[in-house]
Amino acid sequence: MKILVTGGAGFIGSAVVRQLIRETDHEVVNLDKLTYAGNLHSLGGALDDPRHRFERVDLCDAGEVGRVFAEHRPEAVMHLAAESHVDRSIDGPGEFIRTNVDGTFTLLQAARAYWEGLEGGARDRFRFHHVSTDEVYGSLGPEGYFTEETAYDPRSPYSASKAASDHLVRAWHHTYGLPTLVTNCSNNYGPYHFPEKLIPLVILRAVAGEPLPVYGKGDNVRDWLYVEDHARALRLVLERGVPGQTYNIGGHNERTNIEVVRAICSLLDELRPGSPQVPHADRITFVADRPGHDRRYAIDAGKIGRELGWRPSETFETGLRKTVAWYLENEEWSRDVQTGGYRQERLGLGARS
Ligand code: NAD
Repeated sequence: MKILVTGGAGFIGSAVVRQLIRETDHEVVNLDKLTYAGNLHSLGGALDDPRHRFERVDLCDAGEVGRVFAEHRPEAVMHLAAESHVDRSIDGPGEFIRTNVDGTFTLLQAARAYWEGLEGGARDRFRFHHVSTDEVYGSLGPEGYFTEETAYDPRSPYSASKAASDHLVRAWHHTYGLPTLVTNCSNNYGPYHFPEKLIPLVILRAVAGEPLPVYGKGDNVRDWLYVEDHARALRLVLERGVPGQTYNIGGHNERTNIEVVRAICSLLDELRPGSPQVPHADRITFVADRPGHDRRYAIDAGKIGRELGWRPSETFETGLRKTVAWYLENEEWSRDVQTGGYRQERLGLGARS
């Protein structure tokens, strides 16, 4: 297959592209604007593989997106490009509406025009796979799980923009018959994660001996999934999912934020025993909570397990160990991606609203 991957220079998109090049014969057309969050270094050896083609294009540019379809003639789309950081969406929601809502609309229109021009088997086999988040479902109390039937209740500008894009994708299926797939996944972690997100931020700050900021009391709960497990689930849904269906993806790994930070600190104590920062947990500091901070997310991933046979292969402990080790071995990558103006500072207090 020739697959058009959007956002393939980002955290999850680059994991998808690396996996597709490493483990399949598929060709990849990688469409990415290269915002602060996109970096070609994240593609590793896939970047120069003859089965990988890169297109620096803004999703919202209808002419350019149409050109990419016409020129490359993909057999499927995996749509991951988005603005993805909740704290940034609080400070500046405009880019989130532009890329996540308007950009998804532009891509849908281009995909539809292209798909309507296909014939026979090529038209039947075409898929538009939209990659989304469990945050569209809102916040849970101490009990219960998000299923594919949970009503949408987004609370942040980020999750509202992703919810809007999910609705557009479903509408394009019901109204125009476009063969769409939607997946909603829990929090990802792993290598090549931009260091504004909790896990890489804590690793890098702990190594540097800086304070480790934890929002509120650190008792918000997230359900963590190792990024390579997510990428594998996405491939399975693309290849075997039923058009029009939604699949939830999650790791069965609920942890409070403070548990996550303490686990990173213990791993660093073990992996860098001679460091003057030991014990790393001494640097934990509690800071003002994120406005509107959702309390708990937890995914019921039963459907993708039953219908497509997917199971994550990493536990939180094994995945976190690999992640911490990767950041210790790849300090240059972390330095490179932060030269675009981000310096591990606190975002998301609404200062620029
Ligand atoms: P990311 O921020 O690391 O990467 C996003 C990529 O999209 C970047 O390479 C960026 O350059 C590109 N991009 C942004 N705006 C663009 C535009 N206008 N045109 C073209 N490209 C543009 O994000 P991520 O964490 O890899 O997330 C990928 C997708 O998965 C997103 O849709 C996100 O909502 C979803 N998701 C993320 C998580 C998570 O924990 N990170 C969990 C569930 C779902």
